[in-house]
Amino acid sequence: MRLREGAEISKYYYGKPLMLCYSGGKDSEIILDLALKSGIDFEVQHSHTTVDAPETVYHIRNKFKKLESKGIKCNIDMPRYKGKPTSMWSLIPLKGMPPTRLVRYCCSILKEIAGANRAIITGVRRAESFKRQSRGILETYSSNKSDRIILNNDNDDKRRIIEHCQLQGKTIINPICDWTDDDVKEYVQQEHITLNPLYSCEFSRVGCIGCPMAGKKRFAEFARYPKYRDLYIRAFDELVQVRKRNGKATQWLSGIDVYHWWMEDNVLPGQLTIDGENDW
Ligand code: SF4
Repeated sequence: MRLREGAEISKYYYGKPLMLCYSGGKDSEIILDLALKSGIDFEVQHSHTTVDAPETVYHIRNKFKKLESKGIKCNIDMPRYKGKPTSMWSLIPLKGMPPTRLVRYCCSILKEIAGANRAIITGVRRAESFKRQSRGILETYSSNKSDRIILNNDNDDKRRIIEHCQLQGKTIINPICDWTDDDVKEYVQQEHITLNPLYSCEFSRVGCIGCPMAGKKRFAEFARYPKYRDLYIRAFDELVQVRKRNGKATQWLSGIDVYHWWMEDNVLPGQLTIDGENDW
């Protein structure tokens, strides 16, 4: 019902099929299955963030191949910034700071690139926001609640089933916005949904590796994907050099100092750790 309404809005106001934003995670798997079963006209879009886990990248490629064989248009958008190709690794030195829970510049550049002047479907759920709050992860951009900016992919407790973004001329349909975790679990089991393989590797989320919103879970992510940790540290090294060149004050002497600050692991700048990782 919600999807059919969304599809009508899309056809009537935009003259185009609904655009389904697919991340490769559990919630987007559900909206995709619902869209397929509802028989609506839709196409599928994925924003490649450059920090997705390899398993997620393969899962999406395989999924898109199957959808295309059914005649469904699928598109993977590669990120661009100011007209040029970009990545997490080039954005970090450019922005002069790592992405943090309060400053998620990467989301608006790497993830929110599609869907301007379109009606889109997302898999955001309010329940995800409550979970983060209970884990102590603050999901606001400002201490003043009325000032806060919500990105299209945010699982915020204020999300509605249909929303409008005037800035980008988007209508956003969040059909499972009010679904609980149990609803999701039940649907996945009942409908035999094939999930991203990372869920069977004790990952409860399959977003960007090292996302600041993942808090302490990043330690497990970097233990599984040490190359990503090295890439972050290399980008942080560049960031320190850029800050120095631009005469900006910095407490950090190297990328590894930035990394410890970012991971909130209580290792001070220049301090040696037990495993000697500062010796790199
Ligand atoms: S999900 Fe996290 S790491 Fe990925 S783009 Fe958004 S804030 Fe950045």
